[in-house]
Amino acid sequence: MSVAGAAVGVAQAALDEAVAHAKTREGFGVSLARLGSVPEHLASCWTDIEMARSLTYRAAAASARDARANLHLSSMAKVGATEAAARVVDRSVQIMGRFGLVRGGKLERLYREARPMRIYEGSTEVIFDSLAKQLVKEAH
Ligand SMILES: Cc1cc2nc3c(=O)[nH]c(=O)nc-3n(C[C@H](O)[C@H](O)[C@H](O)COP(=O)(O)OP(=O)(O)OC[C@H]3O[C@@H](n4cnc5c(N)ncnc54)[C@H](O)[C@@H]3O)c2cc1C
Repeated sequence: MSVAGAAVGVAQAALDEAVAHAKTREGFGVSLARLGSVPEHLASCWTDIEMARSLTYRAAAASARDARANLHLSSMAKVGATEAAARVVDRSVQIMGRFGLVRGGKLERLYREARPMRIYEGSTEVIFDSLAKQLVKEAH
Protein backbone atom coordinates (compact mmCIF):
# COMPACT_ATOMS: atom_id res chain seq x y z
CA MET A 1 0.00 0.00 0.00
CA SER A 2 2.81 2.42 0.85
CA VAL A 3 4.38 2.01 -2.61
CA ALA A 4 1.01 2.58 -4.29
CA GLY A 5 0.57 5.80 -2.31
CA ALA A 6 4.10 6.95 -3.13
CA ALA A 7 3.52 6.22 -6.83
CA VAL A 8 0.36 8.36 -6.88
CA GLY A 9 2.35 11.19 -5.25
CA VAL A 10 5.21 10.93 -7.73
CA ALA A 11 2.78 10.89 -10.66
CA GLN A 12 0.86 13.92 -9.36
CA ALA A 13 4.10 15.86 -8.80
CA ALA A 14 5.23 15.07 -12.37
CA LEU A 15 1.92 16.17 -13.87
CA ASP A 16 1.98 19.39 -11.81
CA GLU A 17 5.40 20.19 -13.30
CA ALA A 18 4.25 19.36 -16.84
CA VAL A 19 1.09 21.49 -16.53
CA ALA A 20 3.01 24.49 -15.17
CA HIS A 21 5.50 24.20 -18.03
CA ALA A 22 2.87 23.69 -20.75
CA LYS A 23 0.91 26.73 -19.55
CA THR A 24 3.84 29.11 -19.74
CA ARG A 25 5.77 27.88 -22.78
CA GLU A 26 4.68 28.92 -26.25
CA GLY A 27 5.26 27.29 -29.62
CA PHE A 28 4.08 28.63 -32.98
CA GLY A 29 2.32 31.47 -31.15
CA VAL A 30 0.13 29.28 -28.96
CA SER A 31 0.45 27.78 -25.50
CA LEU A 32 2.13 24.36 -25.48
CA ALA A 33 -0.94 23.12 -23.58
CA ARG A 34 -2.98 23.59 -26.79
CA LEU A 35 -0.40 22.29 -29.25
CA GLY A 36 -0.44 18.95 -31.09
CA SER A 37 -0.68 15.93 -28.84
CA VAL A 38 0.20 17.82 -25.65
CA PRO A 39 -3.47 18.24 -24.51
CA GLU A 40 -4.01 14.49 -24.98
CA HIS A 41 -0.85 13.71 -22.98
CA LEU A 42 -2.04 16.00 -20.17
CA ALA A 43 -5.55 14.53 -20.04
CA SER A 44 -4.36 10.92 -20.19
CA CYS A 45 -1.90 11.60 -17.32
CA TRP A 46 -4.73 13.08 -15.25
CA THR A 47 -6.94 10.08 -16.01
CA ASP A 48 -4.16 7.63 -15.10
CA ILE A 49 -3.58 9.41 -11.80
CA GLU A 50 -7.26 9.50 -10.80
CA MET A 51 -7.67 5.78 -11.62
CA ALA A 52 -4.58 4.96 -9.56
CA ARG A 53 -5.70 7.20 -6.69
CA SER A 54 -9.19 5.66 -6.57
CA LEU A 55 -7.88 2.09 -6.48
CA THR A 56 -5.24 3.03 -3.90
CA TYR A 57 -7.84 4.60 -1.56
CA ARG A 58 -10.17 1.62 -1.98
CA ALA A 59 -7.38 -0.90 -1.37
CA ALA A 60 -6.10 1.05 1.66
CA ALA A 61 -9.56 1.07 3.26
CA ALA A 62 -10.00 -2.66 2.57
CA SER A 63 -6.52 -3.40 3.87
CA ALA A 64 -7.20 -1.50 7.10
CA ARG A 65 -10.25 -3.73 7.66
CA ASP A 66 -8.51 -7.04 6.84
CA ALA A 67 -5.10 -6.91 5.14
CA ARG A 68 -4.81 -10.64 4.43
CA ALA A 69 -8.30 -11.06 2.97
CA ASN A 70 -7.77 -8.05 0.70
CA LEU A 71 -4.22 -8.76 -0.42
CA HIS A 72 -5.37 -8.94 -4.04
CA LEU A 73 -6.57 -5.32 -3.85
CA SER A 74 -3.32 -3.99 -2.33
CA SER A 75 -1.39 -5.98 -4.98
CA MET A 76 -3.52 -4.45 -7.75
CA ALA A 77 -3.05 -0.98 -6.25
CA LYS A 78 0.75 -1.48 -6.17
CA VAL A 79 0.91 -2.64 -9.79
CA GLY A 80 -1.73 -0.21 -11.08
CA ALA A 81 -0.29 2.87 -9.41
CA THR A 82 3.38 2.15 -10.19
CA GLU A 83 2.65 1.35 -13.85
CA ALA A 84 0.49 4.50 -14.06
CA ALA A 85 3.29 6.57 -12.48
CA ALA A 86 5.72 5.20 -15.09
CA ARG A 87 3.40 6.29 -17.91
CA VAL A 88 2.82 9.70 -16.33
CA VAL A 89 6.49 10.56 -15.71
CA ASP A 90 7.37 9.44 -19.23
CA ARG A 91 4.63 11.56 -20.82
CA SER A 92 5.56 14.49 -18.56
CA VAL A 93 9.15 14.36 -19.84
CA GLN A 94 7.77 14.27 -23.39
CA ILE A 95 5.65 17.36 -22.69
CA MET A 96 8.59 19.26 -21.20
CA GLY A 97 11.06 18.24 -23.89
CA ARG A 98 14.66 19.00 -22.97
CA PHE A 99 13.55 20.83 -19.79
CA GLY A 100 12.39 17.46 -18.40
CA LEU A 101 15.85 15.99 -18.80
CA VAL A 102 17.93 18.56 -16.90
CA ARG A 103 20.17 16.73 -14.44
CA GLY A 104 19.13 17.70 -10.90
CA GLY A 105 15.77 19.01 -12.15
CA LYS A 106 12.54 17.99 -10.42
CA LEU A 107 11.16 15.92 -13.29
CA GLU A 108 14.45 14.10 -13.85
CA ARG A 109 14.36 13.10 -10.15
CA LEU A 110 10.71 11.98 -10.34
CA TYR A 111 11.51 9.90 -13.44
CA ARG A 112 14.33 8.12 -11.58
CA GLU A 113 12.12 7.61 -8.50
CA ALA A 114 9.26 6.10 -10.51
CA ARG A 115 11.35 3.56 -12.42
CA PRO A 116 12.40 1.20 -9.57
CA MET A 117 8.87 1.25 -8.09
CA ARG A 118 7.88 -1.31 -10.74
CA ILE A 119 10.62 -3.63 -9.43
CA TYR A 120 10.86 -3.38 -5.63
CA GLU A 121 8.25 -4.65 -3.13
CA GLY A 122 7.18 -7.21 -5.74
CA SER A 123 7.88 -6.67 -9.42
CA THR A 124 4.89 -6.14 -11.71
CA GLU A 125 5.40 -9.55 -13.34
CA VAL A 126 5.63 -11.46 -10.05
CA ILE A 127 2.52 -9.73 -8.65
CA PHE A 128 0.58 -10.43 -11.87
CA ASP A 129 1.60 -14.08 -11.61
CA SER A 130 0.23 -14.30 -8.04
CA LEU A 131 -2.98 -12.49 -8.99
CA ALA A 132 -3.57 -14.78 -11.96
CA LYS A 133 -3.05 -17.87 -9.79
CA GLN A 134 -5.62 -16.58 -7.28
CA LEU A 135 -8.08 -15.65 -10.02
CA VAL A 136 -7.94 -19.09 -11.63
CA LYS A 137 -8.00 -20.92 -8.28
CA GLU A 138 -11.10 -19.10 -7.08
CA ALA A 139 -12.99 -19.33 -10.39
CA HIS A 140 -16.04 -21.60 -10.35
C1 LIG B 1 15.67 0.91 -5.20
C2 LIG B 1 15.52 -0.51 -4.69
C3 LIG B 1 15.35 -0.71 -3.33
C4 LIG B 1 15.23 -2.01 -2.85
N1 LIG B 1 15.06 -2.18 -1.49
C5 LIG B 1 15.01 -3.44 -0.99
C6 LIG B 1 14.84 -3.65 0.41
O1 LIG B 1 14.77 -2.69 1.20
N2 LIG B 1 14.80 -4.91 0.90
C7 LIG B 1 14.90 -5.99 0.04
O2 LIG B 1 14.86 -7.12 0.52
N3 LIG B 1 15.01 -5.81 -1.28
C8 LIG B 1 15.08 -4.57 -1.84
N4 LIG B 1 15.21 -4.40 -3.19
C9 LIG B 1 15.34 -5.57 -4.04
C10 LIG B 1 14.03 -5.87 -4.78
O3 LIG B 1 13.08 -6.46 -3.94
C11 LIG B 1 14.39 -6.77 -5.97
O4 LIG B 1 15.15 -6.00 -6.87
C12 LIG B 1 13.15 -7.35 -6.64
O5 LIG B 1 12.52 -8.30 -5.82
C13 LIG B 1 13.50 -8.03 -7.97
O6 LIG B 1 14.52 -8.96 -7.75
P1 LIG B 1 15.84 -8.90 -8.63
O7 LIG B 1 16.31 -7.51 -8.74
O8 LIG B 1 16.75 -9.93 -8.04
O9 LIG B 1 15.38 -9.34 -10.07
P2 LIG B 1 15.02 -10.83 -10.55
O10 LIG B 1 14.32 -11.59 -9.47
O11 LIG B 1 16.24 -11.40 -11.17
O12 LIG B 1 13.94 -10.47 -11.67
C14 LIG B 1 14.35 -9.90 -12.92
C15 LIG B 1 13.14 -9.83 -13.82
O13 LIG B 1 12.54 -11.12 -13.96
C16 LIG B 1 11.20 -11.10 -13.58
N5 LIG B 1 10.83 -12.28 -12.79
C17 LIG B 1 11.54 -12.82 -11.78
N6 LIG B 1 10.88 -13.86 -11.25
C18 LIG B 1 9.75 -13.98 -11.95
C19 LIG B 1 8.63 -14.86 -11.88
N7 LIG B 1 8.56 -15.84 -10.96
N8 LIG B 1 7.62 -14.68 -12.73
C20 LIG B 1 7.67 -13.70 -13.66
N9 LIG B 1 8.69 -12.84 -13.78
C21 LIG B 1 9.71 -12.97 -12.94
C22 LIG B 1 11.05 -9.87 -12.70
O14 LIG B 1 9.72 -9.37 -12.77
C23 LIG B 1 12.03 -8.92 -13.31
O15 LIG B 1 11.42 -8.24 -14.41
C24 LIG B 1 15.31 -3.11 -3.71
C25 LIG B 1 15.46 -2.88 -5.10
C26 LIG B 1 15.56 -1.61 -5.59
C27 LIG B 1 15.73 -1.38 -7.07
